[in-house]
Amino acid sequence: MDSIELTKKLVEIESITGNESGVCEFVKNYLENTSIQVKKVQINESRYNIIASTGTGEKKLVLCSHFDTVPPHIPPTEKDGKLYGRGTCDAKCHVATALNTLIALSKEKLGGELIFIGVIGEEVGGDDGAKKVLDELGLKADAVIDLEPMEFRLAIAQVGVVWANLEMTGEEMHITQVEDEPNLVEEMAKIVVKLNEEFQNRFNQDSLVGKPRFNVTVFQGGETPNVLPGKCVAKIDCRHTPNETKEEIYKFIDDCIAASGSKVKPDVVETSYRSPFETSEDSDIVKTFKRLYPDIELFGYEAVTDANYFDDAGIQPVVFGCGSTKVAHTRDEHVVIEDIKKEEEMLKKICKEFLKP
Ligand SMILES: [Zn+2]
Repeated sequence: MDSIELTKKLVEIESITGNESGVCEFVKNYLENTSIQVKKVQINESRYNIIASTGTGEKKLVLCSHFDTVPPHIPPTEKDGKLYGRGTCDAKCHVATALNTLIALSKEKLGGELIFIGVIGEEVGGDDGAKKVLDELGLKADAVIDLEPMEFRLAIAQVGVVWANLEMTGEEMHITQVEDEPNLVEEMAKIVVKLNEEFQNRFNQDSLVGKPRFNVTVFQGGETPNVLPGKCVAKIDCRHTPNETKEEIYKFIDDCIAASGSKVKPDVVETSYRSPFETSEDSDIVKTFKRLYPDIELFGYEAVTDANYFDDAGIQPVVFGCGSTKVAHTRDEHVVIEDIKKEEEMLKKICKEFLKP
């Protein structure tokens, strides 16, 4: 099947996160009767990640993409040279091009190993997918091309993302009984103001990922106007550049709490963390792209992909692919049909060049 047909087939199968089994099965069957080795990393009976490889040797290159989509399922339709539907660009066209690249190169002599990793659970953080595969297999490789809708640009860096809660608890009481007891909502507000005032002074722009971002995106406290709040929670989304560590972000939060004048010190509770990455322009993988496609735009990505898990595992990541994140996750999600072919051609060349005997 060519990559366009294959993309359509994959988009027809609903695979909202948690329900990827149809696509897992389809991909497994698609690789049957080829010389390609297929392994599963299972989450349960029907949900699994697929690892498929061809070639042998010291040098190893990974192509990674994800099977799951955000809801709702939107079946494929074609209009004006574009393929619409859920998962068209995020990320089923990439699953298709990666699979066909693997099959095509299985018939050629490579100077190393090409590994396809098809993962589940990417849209909810990757714990069941890329992270699980890397933890379980202890996979070692030189580089990974993580395939996501990047408009044919090459992401060589990605922000780190801290999610943390600031939590205050105290005694609820009728508002007429209050003497010196602090109002948690007001005390938390002082901290939020301080955090926002100080953040841009403390952290600098990065030439790749741009400006770091700090936002309090949820603020919850109080029940009713005549009761002193017994609880207040502020939730933080902080996107930092590869030049900072998460420890520096937490130090910043602590400093702001101390300087805010708040009478109550909140607990700072991390709810999630994704580390940043930056892959050098002198790395083999970036140089390979540049050699074949000198005009390719290098940039830093302000959101999160599975690429950081590979970086954590010592595998140099880049993120690449056709389609745009501007339409991914929307009702209008689509990919230009010709771009699927173009991506497949590019991937074949890049993989061959990287794994040249
Ligand atoms: Zn995606």
